[in-house]
Amino acid sequence: MIVITLYSMPESPGNVRTSWWALFWEVLARNLKMSIATVDPEGRLLSLYNHPYPASQSQKNSPLMAAFNNFYSKLPGKFAHREEGQLVFNPLGLPEGMARLEDGSFLILGGCLEERDPQRLDKLLEKLDKLEAPARDQFWAEMPLVTPEKLKEYLSRVVDLYNSLQRYHSSSGTAELLSAVENLDRLISLTFNPEHFELSATLELIATFIVAVAGGGGAFAFTCEYPGKSLTLWSGEHAHVVEELADIWKTLCRTKEPAKSFADLAWKMIEAELDLTFQGVYRMHNGATVYLGFIGKERPYLRKVLAALVKKAAVALGVSSLFRVFQHRWGLVFNSIMHGIIVTDNRGTILMMNQAAKQFFCDYGVKVPAAGQKITACGFGRQIEEAVCIAARSNRSFMQKRSAIGEGDSLAHLRWDVVPLLREDGCSAGAVLVFNDITEPVKLHLEIQDWERLATAGEIAAGLAHEIRNPLATAKAAIQLARMVKDPPKQEELLNKLERELDRLNDILTNFLNISKPMPEKKLEPVNLNQVLNELLFLLNSEALLNEIDLEINFFSGKPLVVLGSSGSLKQVFLNIARNAIEAMTNGGKLSISTSLQNGCVHVTFQDNGPGIPEEYMATITKPFFTTKPGGTGLGLSISSSIVKMMGGELIIKSALGEGTTVNICLPVYEDKA
Ligand code: ADP
Ligand code: MG
Repeated sequence: MIVITLYSMPESPGNVRTSWWALFWEVLARNLKMSIATVDPEGRLLSLYNHPYPASQSQKNSPLMAAFNNFYSKLPGKFAHREEGQLVFNPLGLPEGMARLEDGSFLILGGCLEERDPQRLDKLLEKLDKLEAPARDQFWAEMPLVTPEKLKEYLSRVVDLYNSLQRYHSSSGTAELLSAVENLDRLISLTFNPEHFELSATLELIATFIVAVAGGGGAFAFTCEYPGKSLTLWSGEHAHVVEELADIWKTLCRTKEPAKSFADLAWKMIEAELDLTFQGVYRMHNGATVYLGFIGKERPYLRKVLAALVKKAAVALGVSSLFRVFQHRWGLVFNSIMHGIIVTDNRGTILMMNQAAKQFFCDYGVKVPAAGQKITACGFGRQIEEAVCIAARSNRSFMQKRSAIGEGDSLAHLRWDVVPLLREDGCSAGAVLVFNDITEPVKLHLEIQDWERLATAGEIAAGLAHEIRNPLATAKAAIQLARMVKDPPKQEELLNKLERELDRLNDILTNFLNISKPMPEKKLEPVNLNQVLNELLFLLNSEALLNEIDLEINFFSGKPLVVLGSSGSLKQVFLNIARNAIEAMTNGGKLSISTSLQNGCVHVTFQDNGPGIPEEYMATITKPFFTTKPGGTGLGLSISSSIVKMMGGELIIKSALGEGTTVNICLPVYEDKA
């Protein structure tokens, strides 16, 4: 691909000076991505370039332009006595640095300061709203942020360059020329910013500088790469010659050694046509050729300047191709990551997003938000949007969050992190959102939960039928017997038996309801675990005493152990487990109950030195109706583990035959966020 940019200048001699300066300012504004205005000592606006707005005719008559004119006309009077480089705020509300040039005129350089003042930001947006809407978005996205220090630095470099060029024009001295080249060099190093480095803009700046040095004579710059880019610049009196040269270059730049053949041809052409000198310098660099040339009156040292600049251009070319290789590789990595990644600046404007993020939007039939749009355009919902805004303005991170977005068919579950995009100075320059679409796993999980519930319900129903049949049979037998016997004490005994069996039935049914729907009405609330255990101690102590068991208590005393649960259900759990231990130690033994705090979890541990649980039972003891006891229901552990699970915790049983059993309940600590 060949890209050629052409500039033509008005031919009238009187205008030449102002027009090459106009070109110079325009190219400079594009390079710095800022606005540049020059104002004469009487306050008349000489030039104004608002990157990325070209100063088009329509804008010249707009209310905005009128506001600018009004603003600049007051500058000389207002700021004549103020300090150089002082910041002022233009009609758009954008900060500008103002400096006095050696010829008495004013230079105003504007950028978008890193705004941390939301009010000012809103006002600016409001003003931009008055411009055409699409242009506003472009303006917003392309306006890079600068710090006040950076703005001042740019300003003094631009002033130096202007002043040195002016001095060269009035004296034509070598020292002035070399200092102008040096100042250009310093300005280019400033714009060598990997965030917004553009080769063509740099080459354009170099070529414009040659035009400025030539004072509006014919000057041009070409670069060519394979497959290459080419840039042409022409100006002033010899425009048609440069145009012809550009045509020659276009055909030659695809050949093997274009520069040499070009120099021969150009020289012949100029000699034949004009009474002017032709000087051209080229340099090959990594298979690319840069050619800078000048047609005009003999100027001393011009060749040296061209040589120095062509070297600069070649370096820029080298950097740009390295940069492209890097970008390409980086892009491959960025786009290979399976997580969606969206990077925003500190105004929440999207800077880039990787392939996975784009795919996410495609999968849900949503238009992929473009760079330059706000994060709110993604439709991620308030939680993520707020996290991005906070991370972009402070150093806060949001890790391992989950959100559900959209509705109906396009409901998506996201797992996401938002971290600030930190600059070297530790301040946030934006935010990075990393997200995973976990819609499928979430759906699967819900399905599995359904299946598990169904399976357990089936198991329970089978067990229940079996369990109910036993007491029912006994009850029926008791009734039949009671009919037959006439002896009142005997009858009384049978009725008692009947009552006990009905009680057992009632127990089984109550417990069953507890499993299938653990704590339907009870709300979860903060519960102090040591307190719950203390309330149980009287009961446990007397049961232990009756069964000749030593009870050892060791409660954590560091701070209250608070979990989110229900104290009634927790009592049920602790009693079930303690009773199991007591029931297991038929010949006495020791039961230790302890609480502790580890890694954000509260642990309640019941350790007995009873007979232990055979390995083959371990997998089934928490299943409903599994019991090894003649009068057991087999529901204690099953209910306990579903209660603990519901509170977000876990019930872990470890046992060694002949040594004892340890049941550990761990529950997440409840942190009061208020
Ligand atoms: P149940 O106590 O009605 O039998 P559980 O669900 O509470 O029902 O317990 C199931 C089974 O697990 C018990 O029958 C017993 O075999 C075993 N078990 C539970 N805790 C212990 C323990 N601490 N020591 C030995 N076996 C135990
Ligand atoms: Mg039990």
